[in-house]
Amino acid sequence: MGAERAALLARLNVLTIEDLLLHRPRRYEDRRRFQSIKVLKLDEKSTTRGKAVAMGIKRFRKGTQSVFELILDDGTALLHCRWWNLPFMENYFAVGDEVVVYGKVLSLRPRTMDHPEVEVVEPGEEHFIHFNRITPVYPLTEGLPQRWLRGLVWRVLEGFEKSIVEPEIGPVNPSACGPARPTRGDAVRMLHFPEELADVETARRRLALDEFVALELRLRARRKVFEAGARALPCGGDNRLIKPLLTALGYKLTAAQTRVLREIRADLRGAHPMRRLLQGDVGSGKTVVSACAALMALESGFSAALMAPTEILAEQHFRNFKSWLQPLGVRVELQTGSRKTGGGDEPAPGSHTPAAVFIGTHALISEGFKLPNLGLVIIDEQHKFGVAQREQMVRKGHFPHLLVMTATPIPRTLGLTVYGELDLSVIDQLPPGRGRIRTFVRPVDTLPLVWKFIREKLAGGRQAYVVYPQVEKTGKNEVKAVTRELGNLERALAPFRVVLLHGRLRGAEKESVMAEFRGNAAQVLLATSLIEVGVDVPNATVMLIENAERFGLAQLHQLRGRIGRGAHESFCILVSGCGTPEALERLKVLAETTDGFRIAEADLKLRGPGELLGRQQSGAPDFRFGDLTTDFELIVEARRLVSERGSNITCPAESFSGR
Ligand code: ADP
Ligand code: MG
Repeated sequence: MGAERAALLARLNVLTIEDLLLHRPRRYEDRRRFQSIKVLKLDEKSTTRGKAVAMGIKRFRKGTQSVFELILDDGTALLHCRWWNLPFMENYFAVGDEVVVYGKVLSLRPRTMDHPEVEVVEPGEEHFIHFNRITPVYPLTEGLPQRWLRGLVWRVLEGFEKSIVEPEIGPVNPSACGPARPTRGDAVRMLHFPEELADVETARRRLALDEFVALELRLRARRKVFEAGARALPCGGDNRLIKPLLTALGYKLTAAQTRVLREIRADLRGAHPMRRLLQGDVGSGKTVVSACAALMALESGFSAALMAPTEILAEQHFRNFKSWLQPLGVRVELQTGSRKTGGGDEPAPGSHTPAAVFIGTHALISEGFKLPNLGLVIIDEQHKFGVAQREQMVRKGHFPHLLVMTATPIPRTLGLTVYGELDLSVIDQLPPGRGRIRTFVRPVDTLPLVWKFIREKLAGGRQAYVVYPQVEKTGKNEVKAVTRELGNLERALAPFRVVLLHGRLRGAEKESVMAEFRGNAAQVLLATSLIEVGVDVPNATVMLIENAERFGLAQLHQLRGRIGRGAHESFCILVSGCGTPEALERLKVLAETTDGFRIAEADLKLRGPGELLGRQQSGAPDFRFGDLTTDFELIVEARRLVSERGSNITCPAESFSGR
């Protein structure tokens, strides 16, 4: 083809024959039988055809507006097709043309479609490609004709079908792809020119399976490289520090925490460096587990580092770790953008620096900062970090053990794919004695009642969070929204004291605001979603989230996790600004359950994996055919195939990795 067409295809990310063969139709039209114009139904999308019998442009409003009308006749009735303000449409048609249209019928008198999709049937064209079959309709870009692309796919398929490499995935569980279980070559043909509409899904599943196999192979390869390169540092410890910590703690670990610690200890004693994901709902007590893991490393003479996504959270961990570990004689250091307590220097040759715990933000991974003798890396709220940052942190040591923690429950499909290279531990139990959290969804006009309710709770000695979404991405606007709100809120909640927290404050300012709130010198914390992660103030029992519809469900669940941390009953009030029925419906999921796992599954269905994985999660697989919301079975099947056939599988489907 010419360079111009090639450039247009490139815009669709079609650069190779393979790309073209895997270019997925947007929809299909059953053109084996056309509906006659006479029987078209109102408000239904349908495909029909007819001969152009008249056309013309009407202009109005002094020629600034126009409508182009094309009238088709198929012998049963007339169909008026209209395009508003697209006068150049006129150039595409001539009276006498045979035209296929797809669109919604707006009116029956006369029969009318606005802006239908159209194809003009050219005489002498390869009729069999476009008609008398289920016809693919492709995503296009401006200037690329549908019929040309369809013809190209057809010809390329004719030419290359035989050279599509069959991955040797051997006997596939038939139910995994549908009864037919096509070869990859057949699947590609079915994708474009299916015999029956049901074939499309069969083909998609087969191609998705190939993607999942490819991903699984890649995950295993990555793990193998990692394991071959490294002998694990012996970090199992001997309990001499953990024991006194557990005695001093003031509470007993839950059964789930104890079990997870056993799993971690087995890893730290194992032959290969640990790579473990610790998943536990908000408030399940991951921090103390991570402190025990750090102590295992320390008991064995190694240092540990804990990276958190915000300064507030790093400060909080620093405070906790100091109170837990300093009495045991363990050095605890902090490293954030705004505060450094020292440490992180290369020890002088021959000298012996005792192991320490380093806590910080991504400042820990900054170039000059050294983490000598690093045995264990812990990453808190890992969905806030990218894979790259995780790897950078690990490279601070020589194959240290890695524990990543998350409060976002991971739907099964993501667990097996995005997190497929990590072993999983789950804390599936909350510490006892937590007050219950009740959640309400309220329209914005009930706010005065909500304020009254909050004042009552504050009068009873409790504290509250009020959360505003980031109004726009830019930091400035975010600040404006919350700072503007501060005055209103102070009036609404007088005489109680309100303090403000947002991302633009400097580290020390943030810390002093948090200190006021923690010490109950301020009863209300007005904040952006900055407080989403980690913050732990058990006396705060009320959370009001405004414009809640702007947050993802998993994120709201995280925010809600800031309350319900003490013995008092807690209240989460979600106020929806726009209040469309869908928005309210979505928020109701939260009112109905506090089960983070169910919420995450719902979020995955509603908003796709990107939302759950976090913005920064580079390395998230980008599937053409695989669908993480539905393909659990296929993923399991892919893992089974790879386990059974191991490296004998050749794998052409690298498309999951993007380009
Ligand atoms: P998260 O898993 O969300 O990070 P945290 O580690 O912040 O949760 O713990 C939440 C709260 O629960 C903290 O105040 C912590 O001291 C407390 N906690 C943790 N484990 C227990 C336990 N076994 N019994 C009672 N309270 C606990
Ligand atoms: Mg936490």
